Amino acid sequence: MLTIQKFGGSSLADAEGLCRAAALCIRERQKGRDAAMVVSAMGDTTDELLAMAYSVSSAPSARELDALMSTGECSSAALVAIALEARGQRAISLTGWQSGIFTDAVHGDAQITTLTCARVRAALAHEIVPVISGFQGIDGSGDVTTLGRGGSDTTAVALAAALRAERCDIYTDVPGVFTADPRLVPEARLLEKIDSRDMLRLSYAGAQVLEKRSMELALEKGTEICLRSSSGEGEGTAVRVLGESERPELGGLALRGGTVTLVGRGAPAWLPRLQRRLEGEGIEILDSALSRDQISFELPREKALAGLRMLHALCFER
Ligand code: ADP
Ligand code: ASP
Ligand code: MG
Repeated sequence: MLTIQKFGGSSLADAEGLCRAAALCIRERQKGRDAAMVVSAMGDTTDELLAMAYSVSSAPSARELDALMSTGECSSAALVAIALEARGQRAISLTGWQSGIFTDAVHGDAQITTLTCARVRAALAHEIVPVISGFQGIDGSGDVTTLGRGGSDTTAVALAAALRAERCDIYTDVPGVFTADPRLVPEARLLEKIDSRDMLRLSYAGAQVLEKRSMELALEKGTEICLRSSSGEGEGTAVRVLGESERPELGGLALRGGTVTLVGRGAPAWLPRLQRRLEGEGIEILDSALSRDQISFELPREKALAGLRMLHALCFER
């Protein structure tokens, strides 16, 4: 039984975070499972590296930006491997290319084309925990590529599918998926489960908690994800295709720019109610769009947060 454990940058911001991730890996192994880790760059490292590039050039090349940005994940993988070894667990850090993660040549937004994972499998076979740098791969010319911001989620799902892992646990700075971003809507509710198609729609609509390509891949490969707290507490949210009877009418809300989106199989039927509420509260609807299992409202930017909270109260706080 194999578990892929992915840790995001906010959960690896300092030594304490790195050590907590190592401890969670050991906890998983104590349950009798194998574990492979995927890590993001520590804290805001990727943003800092980008800022550094723009401090020496107004137009850095996409190739060098990828060469630079990928170093953040390499550092955290080595540090987590060091933390594991300090706890008596053999570990090996592996870059994207050492892990056999091949991509197309679209720097900054590369797509994974093939995963060979030979060294990952070899490590696992010897009870060595592979700690894989997320967000990166190598193209046909041997150049380093990155998968787009938030791309470590995609690395985790791709590895889970390639290695036929039983679990794909994505650890982050919130206890799971909420009905809306809990930073924007304090009343948002933690979900025990969410349908993968709803999650994909939320990702497209601006919920950064799971990167959209990782959700596309999860749907394509049938990978179930558990999004959970890097504190190690709680069961997290199961993200999987739900049967019609267990799939709730409404999945959640997301905000991108001035656009608020409600997703869920019952969302379209809510259009008139939502319209009435927004207009009743004096929030002008600049545009609206209805598609399968979702509705979006474009609101004046300065009113969008208030609109999101209002719609959340209407849809999820009764
Ligand atoms: P990581 O560094 O672990 O990849 P991210 O910052 O990419 O973490 O994603 C986690 C953040 O996603 C949370 O801090 C939260 O503010 C935001 N978020 C947006 N929408 C949601 C949602 N529906 N449920 C939970 N978190 C959400
Ligand atoms: N470090 C990269 C980013 O900040 C990738 C990731 O976090 O998943 O976008
Ligand atoms: Mg992320």
